[in-house]
Amino acid sequence: MSFVLGLKCRECGREYPTEPLHVCEFCFGPLEVRYDYDGIKRVLTRSLIESRPANMWRYRELIPIDGDPVIGLHNGFTPLVRAENLGRELGLNNLYIKNDSVCHPTLSFKDRVVAAAVNKAREFGYDTIACASTGNLANSVAAHAASAGMKSYVFIPSDLELSKVLGTSIYESKIIGINGSYDDVNRFCSEIATVFDWAFVNINIRPFYGDGSKTFGYEIAEQLGWKAPDNVIVPVAGSSLITKIIKAFKEFESLGLIENVNTKIFAAQATGCSPVTTAIKAGKDDFIPVKPDTIAKSIAIGNPADGYYGIRVVKESGGWAEDVTDQEVIDGIRLLARTEGIFTETAGGVSVGVTKKLAEQGRFGKDEVTVLSITGQGLKTSEAVEDHLPNPVIIEPKLSVFKEIQSSL
Ligand SMILES: *Cc1c(COP(=O)(O)O)cnc(C)c1O
Ligand SMILES: [Zn+2]
Repeated sequence: MSFVLGLKCRECGREYPTEPLHVCEFCFGPLEVRYDYDGIKRVLTRSLIESRPANMWRYRELIPIDGDPVIGLHNGFTPLVRAENLGRELGLNNLYIKNDSVCHPTLSFKDRVVAAAVNKAREFGYDTIACASTGNLANSVAAHAASAGMKSYVFIPSDLELSKVLGTSIYESKIIGINGSYDDVNRFCSEIATVFDWAFVNINIRPFYGDGSKTFGYEIAEQLGWKAPDNVIVPVAGSSLITKIIKAFKEFESLGLIENVNTKIFAAQATGCSPVTTAIKAGKDDFIPVKPDTIAKSIAIGNPADGYYGIRVVKESGGWAEDVTDQEVIDGIRLLARTEGIFTETAGGVSVGVTKKLAEQGRFGKDEVTVLSITGQGLKTSEAVEDHLPNPVIIEPKLSVFKEIQSSL
């Protein structure tokens, strides 16, 4: 049973059938999935959701596929962690971490969007999946293609972290490094997509991909006991996730699953690639594209596809934005590890660093429910911290030797 009615242009409202389309041919606005919300409201209740297995498909009426999912069946429903130690350091009494650094199967929130996109691509009849990626999407596309028995081509900037490359090639995906930034890769892929009949998850089937992100928001609301938080801090790359979290809360509200959504959305970027946060801080409606230069490579998109809408959701929600230097990214990764025992990648370091900065600016009420989005795994970007940590002390297995050095550890 599907509740998808078709696609609709976000700008002019023109309607399109459920096809692999992503831009309006009249005004070039992005297309979004249209749902039969009245139909969903009649069937989807809190208790039905709670009766289902702990994965993203418990919200399946709100994920845009027609049949039953066949790929990525275990993705999502990651922990929402009460962060008392970090909260104490930041002066926040109700701080939570939504921890997608342990999302199944490739340890980033991209497993949500890819699960939605690959199932839809199969329904459309594609046998090949492709993407332009800053690393995590590549990992997830390659893994899901392998488990679906589909071919995959992933295009990445040639200078990505070793683990992001290895975490793609292990699945025997065709992996192509491009000399250039992600924005060059993306432009090139748009060209390839017009010639090859492949499902580019973040190009021609982007509307379906994007709605996989909503599950990050649904889970936060359910895990807070069916309540929207007061504040959410979100790391921003192409600006898909940041627009979908608030959409998730609003959908739950209109379906009667939660009440009183007044969530403020806060955007987090690295100073070396901050088109969205710079625009918000300057009070502008749109961003100026930049050339990325930061260790936070997974979110280094200088010309974000949904940047305009990302800026808008932050403004309309009454939130704000900040960016942090590479040193603050490293400090953020270490702060989260030291206080909460969670090892996140550079994008998570951005989230933590920005949350600290915003807390110092007094942007959050002390007792408000604040959710920090951790979207990726630290072991994938070990380069960022390896030179900042002490090496193990190497000794012979002798008690006397250990006793000698123990007090200086
Ligand atoms: C892709 C990504 C994001 C943000 O993605 P959007 O393009 O803004 O939806 C955030 N964190 C990590 C780790 C990512 O890989
Ligand atoms: Zn249009």
